[in-house]
Amino acid sequence: MRSVVCMKAVPSTTEVRMDPKTNTIIRDGRQSVANPFDTAALEVALVLKDELGGRISVLSMGIPDTCRLLRDAIARGADDALLLSDRAFAGADTLATSYALSMGLDELGDADLVLCGKMAVDGDTAQIGPELGGILGVPCVTGVSEVLEASDHRVVVRHDTDEGTEVVEVPLPAVLTVTKDIATLRMPSIAGVRAAAGAEVRVLDAATLGADPACCGLAGSPTQVVRSFVPERSHEAATIAGTPVEQAAALLEVFEEVAR
Ligand code: FAD
Repeated sequence: MRSVVCMKAVPSTTEVRMDPKTNTIIRDGRQSVANPFDTAALEVALVLKDELGGRISVLSMGIPDTCRLLRDAIARGADDALLLSDRAFAGADTLATSYALSMGLDELGDADLVLCGKMAVDGDTAQIGPELGGILGVPCVTGVSEVLEASDHRVVVRHDTDEGTEVVEVPLPAVLTVTKDIATLRMPSIAGVRAAAGAEVRVLDAATLGADPACCGLAGSPTQVVRSFVPERSHEAATIAGTPVEQAAALLEVFEEVAR
């Protein structure tokens, strides 16, 4: 089984710091950790490798400090790592992020399984996995909570739906996004720590990757953040009465008032 695990560096605190001028997330690597959903995804890949053999690559788009987290993934059993790092990737929305990651996946070669977290705890959109499935033209199962069967050609998984859970079988290659509780990442072994210390984390910029500059970073992002702020907490609540149509109209007025 050839797996690629997409791992994102996220702030270790719950309060994301924003640049008030550019409305972008400040990513200076301070106290960044691997997104907890992605450490669960790595453990899923490690268990599959234990059972079926194969190779695991970890892939990230982020600042150079992200190498630290990728090296830790190697210490825990991943075979190699690729970091996409370039100012040209800065300001990426989910579409530009998926594009860059898909180029990274191309660079890593044919993967049977691409594993992502269900969501990143800072961005929270949960869009990257499905977008990658779309770009690659392969099935994507979101919110996977259990891998029931796996071979080099198919996986049977349980995943969360709006109604509860569902068991689905998908042919490989495929993208899976996993819940945080699906697995707990194992500790690094001494041999793993030694391997990681000497391991090279490949770092590629956009040009070397062959990425189209028009699809990267701000230039490749059809969505823009207009304003961002840490919301003030309040216990005030208002009840809107009326029919659903009246309530919707009143709610729209509230939203418009807030947006002004
Ligand atoms: P999700 O879709 O919630 O993550 C799901 C999974 O995808 C993760 O668990 C992980 O496996 C994988 N994944 C996600 N991101 C990465 C990654 N970078 N590397 C490897 N795997 C990954 N961010 C900025 O820094 N600057 C900006 O200017 C900026 N502008 C934005 C504008 C808009 C409108 C939006 C919606 C987002 C913007 N972001 C910006 C945030 C950026 O788009 C997201 O960090 C990124 O696209 C991933 O989305 P997410 O965090 O919601 O991930």
